[in-house]
Amino acid sequence: MITYENAIACVLREASGPATISVPLEQSQGYILAEDILADRDFPPFDRATKDGIALVAEAAGNGRKVFEIEGIAAAGSAQKYLQNPEHCLEVMTGAVVPEGADAVVMYEDLEIHDGKATLLKPVKKGMNIHKQGSDTREGEVVLKSPLRISPAETGVLASVGKSFVKVFASPKVAVVATGNELVKVDSKPLPHQIRRSNTLTLKALLEKERIQAALYYLNDDKDELKAAIGKLLEENDVLLLSGGVSRGKYDYLPEVFESLGVSRIFHRVAQRPGKPLWFGKHETWNTTVFSFPGNPVSAFSCYHHYFLPWLDVCMGMHGRGVKVRAGEHLSNDSDLTSFKRVRLALESGRLIAYLVKENGSGDLTSLVRTDGFIRLSPGHQAEEGDLVDFTPTRTPAL
Ligand code: AMP
Ligand code: MG
Repeated sequence: MITYENAIACVLREASGPATISVPLEQSQGYILAEDILADRDFPPFDRATKDGIALVAEAAGNGRKVFEIEGIAAAGSAQKYLQNPEHCLEVMTGAVVPEGADAVVMYEDLEIHDGKATLLKPVKKGMNIHKQGSDTREGEVVLKSPLRISPAETGVLASVGKSFVKVFASPKVAVVATGNELVKVDSKPLPHQIRRSNTLTLKALLEKERIQAALYYLNDDKDELKAAIGKLLEENDVLLLSGGVSRGKYDYLPEVFESLGVSRIFHRVAQRPGKPLWFGKHETWNTTVFSFPGNPVSAFSCYHHYFLPWLDVCMGMHGRGVKVRAGEHLSNDSDLTSFKRVRLALESGRLIAYLVKENGSGDLTSLVRTDGFIRLSPGHQAEEGDLVDFTPTRTPAL
């Protein structure tokens, strides 16, 4: 049995960069950007009027001059106009190119307009209401640096620099496999000794949050069946996420099956609760990574968040989903196992405070709906109310 610290170090050592693919911008949400994005022109690309009003030469409004003849209109989307007489002005619309010769824009609210003439109601300053060319970003500057997760804000930037296709890291091909003779379909009525499968559907839903479409499989606790099916899946997938069958039970065949299929065991059993039976390994020939979680739903859920997600993040060049929150009560871990405790978060005076969730062990699936994440307590660790503790979110907190 190895410690959590050693186990996660082994898992992250196995994380390597995935292939890249090009996806249409409209389908790029949530992917990790795999290229640096440069500004293809200055931003803004021209001196841009930021108000509707008139453009004029600021100096021409010196010595108390207030009335300016209007030469015409510069609209957004029209090529740059030219202010022919520096004593005159041009009407200008937000988003239009500031006319050549003009160096200030006065908004309609600060003007009166009669008979083709604008009268200034306030003083004019050179440069006012003009968004200067290149003042946000210069052509050739990096506007988005890989790796980063594409969110709506990045989409706007990508669109503005003309990226209709974006290079992103490809999601690994993942198969989710449930094992156990007791498992029946969700839409069937279980016999008294049976339970409905839930782990695969939870894992599938979790993977969808990472833009991974997983295929689901159900296998009986039968050595030959397991061997045949898993052998094929190892060849066809980048990652296998399994649940059940890795504990010390008489029918927990997976460790033996993996070994017979040439999957190298990197570790089996971690000094942690929940999730002690976790098995992790790699098939070198097929380059397939195997996370084999215990069947208990909370254990599988915890192992997914504490091992698979960090592995995926590092594969994609991303780090550090882990954050700290404040303990809302005294917490202690008197065991010699790393303890992942289910907590709910409360927002108190602008701070996120973690409170233990009432639960009934790692089989208690319903406790997860009251859970916002896990806090991690090392063996022997004590935390007082108000102390910062390591936190792994399992949902986006409803703030
Ligand atoms: P195992 O790790 O196979 O010993 O299973 C531990 C516990 O988790 C048993 O009570 C199983 O019935 C339960 N379990 C295993 N797989 C699933 C699953 N896919 N969905 C829900 N519970 C499961
Ligand atoms: Mg089982």
